[in-house]
Amino acid sequence: SLEQGPEGPETPIQVVLRVRPMSTTELRRGEQSVLHCSGTRTLQVSPPGGGPDMAFRFRAVLDGTCTQEDMFRVCGVKRLGELALRGFSCTVFTFGQTGSGKTYTLTGPPPQGERVPVPPSLAGIMQRTFAWLLDRVQHLGVPVTLRASYLEIYNEQVRDLLSLGTPRPLPVRWNKARGFYVEQLRVVEFGSLEALMQLLHLGLSRRRSSSHTLNQASSRSHALLTLYVSHPTPQQVPPVDPGEPPVGGRLCFVDLAGSEKVAATGSRGQLMLEANSINRSLLALGHCISLLLDPQRKQSHIPFRDSKLTKLLADSLGGRGVTLMVACVSPSAQCLPETLSTLRYASRAQ
Ligand code: ADP
Ligand code: MG
Repeated sequence: SLEQGPEGPETPIQVVLRVRPMSTTELRRGEQSVLHCSGTRTLQVSPPGGGPDMAFRFRAVLDGTCTQEDMFRVCGVKRLGELALRGFSCTVFTFGQTGSGKTYTLTGPPPQGERVPVPPSLAGIMQRTFAWLLDRVQHLGVPVTLRASYLEIYNEQVRDLLSLGTPRPLPVRWNKARGFYVEQLRVVEFGSLEALMQLLHLGLSRRRSSSHTLNQASSRSHALLTLYVSHPTPQQVPPVDPGEPPVGGRLCFVDLAGSEKVAATGSRGQLMLEANSINRSLLALGHCISLLLDPQRKQSHIPFRDSKLTKLLADSLGGRGVTLMVACVSPSAQCLPETLSTLRYASRAQ
């Protein structure tokens, strides 16, 4: 488990792979599973038609038999939470094609209806981290202020998922004390797990409702939920500009847009624009990560400014925290081309 891994911010990116179970549709169509876990760190890919097997190694590989609880434990998110309590910026992001299990991994399955609650055993990494963090803070015995924000990046525009009025695009700014931040973003203080869950559900329902009108916008947008942890210390930096977020540790959960190449499916107009800005953000992220990992280029300039996503993740990627990438794939032969591109992207990130 990652909890036994190297301590703290020296290893900036850790990659865990999750293979979801075959879906009922995939099974009904008689699709073949082409992914096998051999050991706990290697994924074996057996292309249909007898091509040579391929192997990919990650920090951990979880298959379709793994539970949400296994996922939370293996990811070692508690350690990221501890780092956030010590003032670091940490990020957990899910990467993969639409339908590969990114949202399920972070927030669990969507509710089946207003009155049917999702069983706690299916809660995702986010709910589990929330519960752990609130419990941890209660036992620390020092005053800690907890706040949260929730935003979506769609077509390179930032939309506040917790805004009180009609959301309008918000600018991303930079200043020396705080780095990149979203101006006028609503940052809400919360004191209980219930209050934080309400914020999560407000944001999730706004993502879902926009997906009906905006052509599955939820699979084309990046969603960032950030928890801010601050201790009232004398050194605390007062805000320099109005509308800045609080200073302190952070834990950010990012449900990335689907990584599939929308352009390749022949989409035009709006969809093409989306494809470009999704790919731009994901390419920029991949580019920043590979520069960060190259020891020779450690001192060189990292192009965080290339996209909104990389700007907002700069702190956590840039050495002041730990970033955990959960790469999500389907086991089906039908998804193999996209699965291979996810595996390559994820392999390059470690
Ligand atoms: P994405 O966010 O990557 O588009 P989803 O998280 O929405 O994908 O997952 C697609 C479908 O598969 C959903 O119906 C989800 O509930 C289901 N699913 C994903 N991962 C798992 C899993 N590990 N176990 C059971 N069902 C899953
Ligand atoms: Mg999703």
